[in-house]
Amino acid sequence: MAGVMGWPVMHSRSPRIHNYWLAKHDLAGTYVPLAIKADELRAALRALPSLGFSGCNLTIPHKEAAFEIVDRVDPLARRIGAINCVVVAPDGSLDGRNYDGFGYIQSILEAWPAWRADAGPIAVIGAGGAARAVLVSLADQGAQEIRLVNRTPARALSLAQEFGPPVKALAWDDRHAALEGAAMLVNTTSQGMAGQPALDLTLDKLPGSALVSDLIYIPQETPLLSAARLRGNRTINGLGMLLHQARPAFHAWFGVMPEVTAELRAVIEATI
Ligand code: NAP
Repeated sequence: MAGVMGWPVMHSRSPRIHNYWLAKHDLAGTYVPLAIKADELRAALRALPSLGFSGCNLTIPHKEAAFEIVDRVDPLARRIGAINCVVVAPDGSLDGRNYDGFGYIQSILEAWPAWRADAGPIAVIGAGGAARAVLVSLADQGAQEIRLVNRTPARALSLAQEFGPPVKALAWDDRHAALEGAAMLVNTTSQGMAGQPALDLTLDKLPGSALVSDLIYIPQETPLLSAARLRGNRTINGLGMLLHQARPAFHAWFGVMPEVTAELRAVIEATI
């Protein structure tokens, strides 16, 4: 057994992803949505071993709160500052991990195998929870310069201070100019998501060779990705990140490293 704890949680695509792999690998298990309120997280996590769970994913609002509950946090999750996967150890203790950064990098490499983080400056818009995983993974991949802009400048400054070079914070008003000479642009804000206005960003200064990545996958093509595609940039949405972060979690719980196939992608796309 495994599952995803969140509040709300029923919108999560994770059960479909993991149950697809369980069936594919002929494993007698199941992955369930677990609607857990913030004040029930400790009891819910501690119950996992008794309930026969191998572990669970965590989503909003539990990713940070779990730090104080699990028995061990791996170094990468500690740097990212969030836990998105809990693994029950043989003795019933709980390991906290974070596979969002892995998922992000793998999704880019799947779409663009020749991609390199050190190909040139990377502009990252947004400094929330998702941005932390993106910044840590891009830096670990060898990014030389990451220009971070956020609507609330203090959050970008604080991340630049915490992570140090290659991350440097720029003013929100400078976000359009920050695209000059960039090899890559990443939107980690919620702007462009279904029900939200488009990200307020002018792409005029972005080189035509740049890769444009949006963490959003609902809709599959945000106004940012559409504008980028129309001016000739390569684009990638956030669905690959969601699919790829699930792989090492499945491996940790069930012992098989599954693949992101065209069939799985189609199954999930059909729900969007
Ligand atoms: P979060 O921690 O709440 O951060 C939200 C970010 O959006 C902040 O930087 C915030 O800026 C910015 N923002 C919000 N409203 C804005 C506006 N009107 N103008 C400019 N910036 C605005 O959220 P999160 O967890 O990082 O998630 C961010 C996005 O990533 C969401 O769309 C989420 O769906 C997506 N995501 C995708 C995956 C995946 O697997 N593909 C995984 C995680 C997240 P301020 O600091 O100024 O508020």
